[in-house]
Amino acid sequence: MVVVMDIGADESQIESVIATLNDHGFDVHRSSGSQRTVLGAVGVKRDFDKRHIELLDGVYTVHRVSEPYKFASRSWKKEPTEATVKDVVIGGKEIIVMAGPCSVESEEQIHASAKAVAAAGARILRGGAFKPRSSPYSFQGLGEDGLVMMCEAADAHGLAVVTELMDPTHADLMAKYADMVQIGARNMQNFPLLRVAGQLGLPVLLKRGMSASIEEWLMSAEYILAEDNPNVVLCERGIRTFETMTRNTLDLSAVPVVKARSHLPVIVDPSHGIGIRDKVLPMARAGVAAGADGLMIEVHPDPDSALSDGPQSLLFPQFEELMGQIRLIAEAIGRNVA
Ligand code: PEP
Ligand code: MN
Repeated sequence: MVVVMDIGADESQIESVIATLNDHGFDVHRSSGSQRTVLGAVGVKRDFDKRHIELLDGVYTVHRVSEPYKFASRSWKKEPTEATVKDVVIGGKEIIVMAGPCSVESEEQIHASAKAVAAAGARILRGGAFKPRSSPYSFQGLGEDGLVMMCEAADAHGLAVVTELMDPTHADLMAKYADMVQIGARNMQNFPLLRVAGQLGLPVLLKRGMSASIEEWLMSAEYILAEDNPNVVLCERGIRTFETMTRNTLDLSAVPVVKARSHLPVIVDPSHGIGIRDKVLPMARAGVAAGADGLMIEVHPDPDSALSDGPQSLLFPQFEELMGQIRLIAEAIGRNVA
């Protein structure tokens, strides 16, 4: 931490700041220029609240140098993490595509989806059985029946299953049916749920909260990693901005930024990111080009009759086209798609 004193801060103020830093366990290195004194406080205290120093008399500004997260950081682990979901590795050379409907709606719907996405090269079937809906009157998901249907469909087509964990009391259901649990954007800072997801031992797909900074997102990953669960995959799914022409603003700049700071794999969800069917494909291409380790894509046999997120769900031929296009991009950057 670096503490910059006010121009004209007097000796008693400087000494008082040094004493406070020492009380908090920091070693302090002092350097005085012609106008200002700068104090370097050494000793990693990740949960230290710098406001303890900012409010002292004579302090101009305080900067943190070390990150507040540890296990999620590149400084703690240099090599990229490869998360294993059943027989699928996320974070290696292969770009992994997870695809399927927003919600599991019926046996026919999920089987048709699994068949189409597997044939096009997806490795993981997505689908919600418990849905976080803005309205309590909207379709909430089929619950355990949906999980059973999804597992059967995934098994029939050699896919792994990713589905959303919304409620800590559903942990046993997840352990029974899911190969990977998704923590949705709305729950990114539901800390008790993050701990439960960490303890489950299944790989976790952690979506970015719609108003979350990258640092907050990595702190949420830290909750899962701190439970001794190393299999965390981050998912950029768009954030809220002032823009109204898209559902969210897909923050693709987060991909290289997160990769520089963290060893965790990052995937991109352009379906929720842009929310408009015919704009999903270009943003999927861009996600791969930006360095994502995978994509999550919503697909539906008949999007116009979907019970959730139909307008952003691709038709099967559109998904096939997307897979063909990202194969070309993957090849150009030395990666591959199944
Ligand atoms: C979903 O994947 O269908 C979903 C609800 O995602 P998010 O949490 O990103 O809104
Ligand atoms: Mn959805």
